[in-house]
Amino acid sequence: MSTKASPFDPAWLEELTSRYPTPFHIYDEKAIRANARAVNAAFSWNKGFREYFAVKATPNPYIVKILKAEGFGVDCSSMAELQLAQAVGVAGDSVFFSSNDTPEEEFRKARDMGAVINLDDISHLPFLEQHAGLPDLLSFRYNPGPLKKGNVIIGHPEEAKYGLTRDQLFEAYRQARDKGVSRFGIHTMVASNELDLNYFAETVEILFDLIVELSRTLDIRFELVNIGGGIGIPYTPDDTPLDLPRLSSHIRRHYKETIVANGLDPLNLYMECGRMITGPYGYLVSRVRHIKNTYKTFVGLDACMANLMRPALYGAYHHISVVGKENAPADHVYDVTGSLCENNDKFAIDRELPELAFGDLVVIHDAGAHGHAMGFNYNGKLRSAELLLRENGDVVEIRRAETIDDYFATLDLDGVADFAVT
Ligand SMILES: *Cc1c(COP(=O)(O)O)cnc(C)c1O
Repeated sequence: MSTKASPFDPAWLEELTSRYPTPFHIYDEKAIRANARAVNAAFSWNKGFREYFAVKATPNPYIVKILKAEGFGVDCSSMAELQLAQAVGVAGDSVFFSSNDTPEEEFRKARDMGAVINLDDISHLPFLEQHAGLPDLLSFRYNPGPLKKGNVIIGHPEEAKYGLTRDQLFEAYRQARDKGVSRFGIHTMVASNELDLNYFAETVEILFDLIVELSRTLDIRFELVNIGGGIGIPYTPDDTPLDLPRLSSHIRRHYKETIVANGLDPLNLYMECGRMITGPYGYLVSRVRHIKNTYKTFVGLDACMANLMRPALYGAYHHISVVGKENAPADHVYDVTGSLCENNDKFAIDRELPELAFGDLVVIHDAGAHGHAMGFNYNGKLRSAELLLRENGDVVEIRRAETIDDYFATLDLDGVADFAVT
C-alpha cells in the first residue's frame, strides 16, 4: 500500500495558479533527486552502474540537467532527443542510443556525439557501417521471444517489433567482431510499467547466461549489460512499489554466480528507466470547469487528454486528489473528463471523490513520466506549461504553455485567401 496525497499546501497551490493558470504540470525537484540517489545507492555494488534516463518519459532539458547532476546518463531514440541531450551537455558514453527503425542521419548524429549505439536488428550493422561507420563499442538489443511471458504494455516478446532473436545475436556479434568492433554491450527491454521483481530478476538471469555463452563462443568481451527500463510505479493506492534494493541483491547474486564465476567481471550494469525516475514526482494540476448530471455525473476539467493521455490510451489509473478536501469523505461518484471530442477523454470513470464544486483544484498524481510528453494537438487542444518546484521552494517555469500561434505555426493562414478554389 502506498498513500496518495497531494504534497502541496492548498493555499500555496491556489496562489500559484494566479501566476500560472491551470492546467499545468509541476515536478518536485527534491523528490526527484532523492529518488535518483536511492537508485544509485541500490546498485552501488556494481562499480560501473549507471542509470540512463529514458528522455522520452519527460523530455525537458531542465529535468535532464538535474538528473545529469545526479550522475545519470540519458537514453535517446530520436534526433530530437539526441539534440536535447546535447543542449544539456550530455554526450559521449553518457548517451545510450536505443532506437528502432532508425534513419541514417540519426545514426550519424549518435556517432558524432560518441553515443553508445544499440542496434535493433542484424541488418542495421551494415546500414550503420555504410552511413555512419562502425564504432569500437557496439550493443545489440535482444528479444528473448518465447523465453519470456508477456507484459501488458509491451505484449508478448515474440509479437514485439524490438530486438534480435537469440540465433541472430550470435551471428550479429560474430559479424561485428569480424568487422573490427572490439568492445561489446548487450541490451534488452521486455517490460513496461512492471512491478513484479521476479520479472526483472529472470530477465537479468537470461541476459547473464547469454553473455557467458556469447563470450565463450565468439571469444569477445562484454563491458556492459543494459537491462532496460520498464520498472513500474504504484499508480493505485493498492500497488506496492518495486523493492529496488531487493532486485539489486538478486542481480548481485546472479552476477557472482555467472559473470564473476566465468571470469567476465567487471561488467557495467546499465538501466534505462524513465517512468520510475520522474513519474511519481510530477503532478497535473487542473480546475473543475463544469459539472453535468445526465445518466451519470460528469466533472469537466480544464485539462484534457492532450495533457495526460494514459487513462484514455490504456485505461490507466491516475489517482486524483481534490485540493482543500483532502480529509473530506469520498462519498460521491464521478466520471472526470476533459474537453476533447472523444468519449474516451476521461481521467477517471466511476471514481469515488469528495463532493466537487465549480472551481475546485484537482491534483492528478503520477504524471511525471509519459505525461506531458505524450501530449498532442488533436482537436486544436494546446499542451500546458511545465513547472519545477525547486528545492528552496521557488517555482520555475521550465516550459511555457502552447499558444494558438504555436498551433497555427505550420500553416499559412493568410495564404488561404490566395488559394484558388472554384
Ligand atoms: C520507453 C523506453 C524506456 C523507458 O521505459 P520506462 O517504462 O519509462 O522505464 C527505456 N528504454 C527503451 C528502449 C524504451 O523504449
